[in-house]
Amino acid sequence: MKSKLLCRELREEVLETALRLPEFGLVWMAGGTACARDPETGYIITTPSGLKYDLLTPEDMIVVDMDMNVIEGSCRPSVATNLWIEIYKRRGDVNAIIHTHSPYATAFSVINEPIPIITETQANWLRKPVQVAQYAHVEDDHFVTAPADALGDGYAVLLGQHGPIIVGANLEETLERSITLEEAAKTYSISKTLGNPIHFDEKQALRSYEYYTNRYGQK
Ligand SMILES: [Zn+2]
Repeated sequence: MKSKLLCRELREEVLETALRLPEFGLVWMAGGTACARDPETGYIITTPSGLKYDLLTPEDMIVVDMDMNVIEGSCRPSVATNLWIEIYKRRGDVNAIIHTHSPYATAFSVINEPIPIITETQANWLRKPVQVAQYAHVEDDHFVTAPADALGDGYAVLLGQHGPIIVGANLEETLERSITLEEAAKTYSISKTLGNPIHFDEKQALRSYEYYTNRYGQK
């Protein structure tokens, strides 16, 4: 019999998502984070800090409230939990956050250059260029505000000299968006070596995003 745990299903979903991050080459060992907000309780379920994903069980996930109190869990939560909370506070449309170290997207955080919209698929998933937040150490005052400000109403932001944060309505969507971001960063890097990549302008990107979101497929 399964033990009683708060937000059992969401814990399992957070763990499943975390396990898929190395599978897609987005993180290694214990890097990165997957976390989600339970819309009913408002609790946040996050992966623990510094533990290898393949050894984790749903019991190892941490449940915290919006004031960073640990509600359930014996491990320490992800070190950036204060940042995840800030994003959830600012964005009512966001119930999932993924942080990766995917190499092509991270490279743009190192050269401090935003990733423009260059393909239709990227426009469909990301809607607008991905900005780079000023570098911050986890103990710096602007560690929380710089990325949350640079994210704005977007779906992804690059932590300066670190890696991307991707947000979405649920974990499945956010994982797909994380993969799309890395693919786009890779394509952009290759196209820069071949010539001058053509960027989508704001209007083109929005048109693509709205069509894909509202009318594409079985909708
Ligand atoms: Zn990281």
